[in-house]
Amino acid sequence: MNKIKYINGKLIVPNQPTIPFIEGDGIGKDISVPSQKVIDAAVEKAYGGSKKIIWKEVLAGEKAFLKTGTYLPDETIEAFKEYLIGIKGPLQTPVGEGIRSLNVALRQTLDLFVCQRPVRWFKGVPSPIRYPSLVDMHIFRENTEDIYAGIEYMAGAENTKKFKDFLLNEMGVDKIRFPESSSFGVKPVSKDGSERLTRAAIKFAVEKQLPSVTIVHKGNIMKFTEGAFKNWGYDLAENEFAIDTFTWRQYEKIKVEKGQLDADKALEKAKKSGKVIIKDVITDAFLQESLLRPYDYSVIATLNLNGDYISDQLAAMVGGIGISPGANINYSTGYAIFEATHGTAPNIAGTGKANPGSLILSGVMMLEYLGWTKAAEHVYDALEHVFAKRRVTSDLHAQMEGATLLTTSEFADEIIKHMH
Ligand code: NAD
Repeated sequence: MNKIKYINGKLIVPNQPTIPFIEGDGIGKDISVPSQKVIDAAVEKAYGGSKKIIWKEVLAGEKAFLKTGTYLPDETIEAFKEYLIGIKGPLQTPVGEGIRSLNVALRQTLDLFVCQRPVRWFKGVPSPIRYPSLVDMHIFRENTEDIYAGIEYMAGAENTKKFKDFLLNEMGVDKIRFPESSSFGVKPVSKDGSERLTRAAIKFAVEKQLPSVTIVHKGNIMKFTEGAFKNWGYDLAENEFAIDTFTWRQYEKIKVEKGQLDADKALEKAKKSGKVIIKDVITDAFLQESLLRPYDYSVIATLNLNGDYISDQLAAMVGGIGISPGANINYSTGYAIFEATHGTAPNIAGTGKANPGSLILSGVMMLEYLGWTKAAEHVYDALEHVFAKRRVTSDLHAQMEGATLLTTSEFADEIIKHMH
């Protein structure tokens, strides 16, 4: 009875759920145990022993290779399928052509179509922007399509010639500047894939009573992929979330039919009644605007490549990858893997310098996903105290005047100490 289930769109969480975890390569070994200690302490503090996570180690990466001869054993995938929700440290992509990234393999096998990243600032954490306290966003990045699908043809290869001839001779394409020396990539963006991503983003905003969802896209240039993503998003909001949302497209329509004043009134009314505003912005403008006016953005729905760039910029605005959490989620089946967003940091592995913040906050996202929000709050509150006291690991220590340097496990213990 320790298995989490997903029935009729709802997670059923027992009081002692089994959660599989992958320790991870490099600093994965350093941050895994301290992170679990913090999560366990928060759960204990919040529920006084009536709830508890049963951690179950599953193998992947180097550790798996040494023990089983394979980097991603079938049992590991089976465990994530069986227990529905898991957490992982960073995994090194094994060097050598033809070996798939383990992260990508896990995402594809479980069809984890949302890469979700919350972006918030903790007081005291160094930031390159003037008002980091105004940053509070949730990125929903499409995780299975786009140019990331890996459909690529190398210049000069036989397949590439076939592909090029098809484009030139059968599709009438005449815009390839140097056809003989071109490589090609294919960018699939489907209505189904776009809708499930935007649906998850809007549902999240409605449930958490957040002010807006911004569709970030390059539809001005790529009309049938990025542009379609935007239009399908607006259609979905107006058809499936008519009661809970008001879209910029509706605003524009009222403006054309009845004038600016009426459109403004409709927008104000929607905001006052707590509707989620659905808007869109071109990606390059978003990268600038999110720096200058972060308070204008809440939930972000975007395609895979845009989401990649956006995630790192927003992470940098609030303290960098050492404390940025993430999750890969299938909101239709409930499958979710929470993960540290940084890599294996081989340059500091085993030195006690690694910041466990990213994995800890990924664990906090997991607690929220389980509905154990009281435990999640304990970690947030404690982290705020620890950062305010400037007691940090070496990555942040280097940027904070008068800070006290802590090792990975000392930092985790400090968080536990501040859970009141
Ligand atoms: P990296 O994130 O491992 O390191 C980049 C820099 O950030 C390094 O200077 C590192 O010391 C520092 N850093 C990273 N995490 C830190 C932490 N928690 N605390 C303090 N400092 C930290 O990126 P990389 O060097 O490009 O990649 C190394 C390996 O990690 C590669 O094999 C790559 O494939 C893999 N990787 C895995 C994931 C994942 O599993 N999700 C993500 C990115 C990279």
